[in-house]
Amino acid sequence: MSDPDAQRARHTTGPVRIGHVTVGGSAPVVVQSMTNTDTADIAATVEQVFQLARAGSELVRITVNSEEAARAVAPIRDRLAQRGCDVPLIGDFHFNGHKLLGKYPDCAEALGKYRINPGNVGRGAKRDQQYATMIETACKYAKPVRIGVNWGSLDQELVVRLMDENSQRATPRDSSEIIHQAMVVSALENAQRAEELGLSADKIILSCKMSGVQDLIAVYRDLAARSQYPLHLGLTEAGMGAKGIVASTAALAVLLQEGIGDTIRISLTPEPGGDRTQEVIVAQEILQSMGLRSFTPTVVACPGCGRTSSTYFQQLAKDIQTYLRHQMPLWRNEYPGVETMTVAVMGCVVNGPGESKHANVGISLPGTGEVPVAPVYVDGEKTVTLKGERIAEEFHVIVDDYVRRTYGPAAHVHTLR
Ligand code: SF4
Repeated sequence: MSDPDAQRARHTTGPVRIGHVTVGGSAPVVVQSMTNTDTADIAATVEQVFQLARAGSELVRITVNSEEAARAVAPIRDRLAQRGCDVPLIGDFHFNGHKLLGKYPDCAEALGKYRINPGNVGRGAKRDQQYATMIETACKYAKPVRIGVNWGSLDQELVVRLMDENSQRATPRDSSEIIHQAMVVSALENAQRAEELGLSADKIILSCKMSGVQDLIAVYRDLAARSQYPLHLGLTEAGMGAKGIVASTAALAVLLQEGIGDTIRISLTPEPGGDRTQEVIVAQEILQSMGLRSFTPTVVACPGCGRTSSTYFQQLAKDIQTYLRHQMPLWRNEYPGVETMTVAVMGCVVNGPGESKHANVGISLPGTGEVPVAPVYVDGEKTVTLKGERIAEEFHVIVDDYVRRTYGPAAHVHTLR
């Protein structure tokens, strides 16, 4: 595994503290997500925030788009606290944020951070005043802000200004370059204005989200080179299913590898009736695959081939993966370090025993024509050979036992001695 610290080389101002969560500086990359419930529906929003946090989201953003939504924020915060959930809530404001934050001080206080989209603050002369009102509210309540530029709502007055300047050049640049420039300039100018209004640099996070992979990489490289604010990273409107996951991963992996990005959100469109927590799992998998953080035990499973006699091993790999992830909300506290565990589930003897030996716990199921037995390896040693109808259940017990012995309190006492 690579050295995560070596990859977090970009120096940032801050770090920014959002409740108990730290973003930027030498802090690990933080996973965040966003609800898709109507914030005014307190029960539904509490439930979804709770599920996102339970899945591992360290920050959760909720839209605050109306008076009803603003009124609901403090009760949402209270009900989460009653359920033992202290995940910081981020308020997403567009158009009327200045009014809502002023009219509902409980909302302003209950939120851990305000997200301000400079393109959606207001038009003309009103824009500056409304932006100032939001920043002054952040100062009053000592809250950090994300200045979140989005190319779908880019400040058109700024675009026109930069396009005009470009047309005066002897050799005008391509319009897409001007859009990239406008994204970065919008973030930087608004950050400077926020500081002039009294918000300290360690209360500012920037983002410049685009929906094209190459556009996002280009813009963030420029933004990272020109500022030291912590950066929120994400491909906006990533899309659905494999397309959204792959596009997000392609863009974020390049930037994270360069040390760019202090907090990430994966903007997946859920399948109808799908689980919102998928965006949290994808974010975690990106960071864990890159060796930047560990969230849940890794399941190494072969893809299967003509040597696998049935779908049995696919089912076992899926069961184990689901089981481990399901246990994590509990295990996270009870068994520190369990997230670094590796479990191998292999389909036959070709690579099975070898891969199993490299894992903490590994099982090699019988392939076509092989003796119907499944050798199990624990820390590189073959410990038992399972057979019969109950291989899956018995393997679960072995994994549970390994977790208790290796990461439980007794293991830590042993280590201290
Ligand atoms: S380990 Fe065996 S079953 Fe799995 S892909 Fe390799 S040869 Fe096929």
